[in-house]
Amino acid sequence: MDRPNLVSGTHRERIVTKMRQDGVSEAEITEMLDSWEITQNLIPADFDKMRESKTCYFCAESPQEKDGFAHTILAHKEPTAYKQLLGFGKARFQAEIGSLLPVYIPICKHCRSEFRKVQWIRSLITAGSMVLAIAAIVITHLLPGLELTTKTQLGIYAGAAALVVFGLSASAFTASRYVKVNSNKVHFNVFDIDLMHRMQENGWFLFQDNSSTSMLSFSSQTDDFGKVFED
Ligand SMILES: [Zn+2]
Repeated sequence: MDRPNLVSGTHRERIVTKMRQDGVSEAEITEMLDSWEITQNLIPADFDKMRESKTCYFCAESPQEKDGFAHTILAHKEPTAYKQLLGFGKARFQAEIGSLLPVYIPICKHCRSEFRKVQWIRSLITAGSMVLAIAAIVITHLLPGLELTTKTQLGIYAGAAALVVFGLSASAFTASRYVKVNSNKVHFNVFDIDLMHRMQENGWFLFQDNSSTSMLSFSSQTDDFGKVFED
C-alpha cells in the first residue's frame, strides 16, 4: 500500500540522523519511530493527493479550480501517550492526544468567500448589537429630564445587556441559517469532505475546534511539512 510521503523513508532517515547528531538516545529514537509507525497507519493512503489536487475539496457539487488552501489541525489519541502528573508520584495518566497532523485542504475562490461570509455575518451582527447597546446607554444618559435613579440605571444596563445577548443569538442563528441554505453547495464542516470523513471514522478529530462550521485559516501555499528538519 502507498504511504503518505509526509512520512516517507527519506524524511524519516533524515530525522533519525539529525536526532543521533543531537545525542538523542537509541531507545528514544526507537520509541519515536514506533509512534510514527502508528500515526502513519492512521493516515489514508490518498492523504498526500489532497495537497496536489488542482480542484477544490469544499465544493459539494462540481469542484472548481483550486485557489489556495484551508488549514486546520487534526488530532488523534493514538499512539497512546502518557503524562506524569505532578504530585501523583509515579502514577501515569493517559494523555488525550497522541498525534497532531496539520492538514492543507485545497479550496476555490467561491468556497473561501462563503466561509468568510459566515465569519462576517457572525461578527457584524455581534458588533452591531454591542454598538446599539452602548448607544442606548449613552443616549439615555443624555436625555433631558430623565431622572437617573439607581433603579433606572440598572434598568438601562439590563436592557443593554439583553440587547447584546439578543445580538449574539441572532448572529449565531443567522450564520447557521446561511450555512444550512448553502450546505448543498459548500462543505462547511471539513468532515463532510470524503477523505476527512474517512479520517474521522478512523478516530481523527479537530484540534481545539468543536464548531459545526469548521474554523479554518487560509493560505495561498502550504508550508513544507518537515522542512524544519532539513539541514
Ligand atoms: Zn470550492
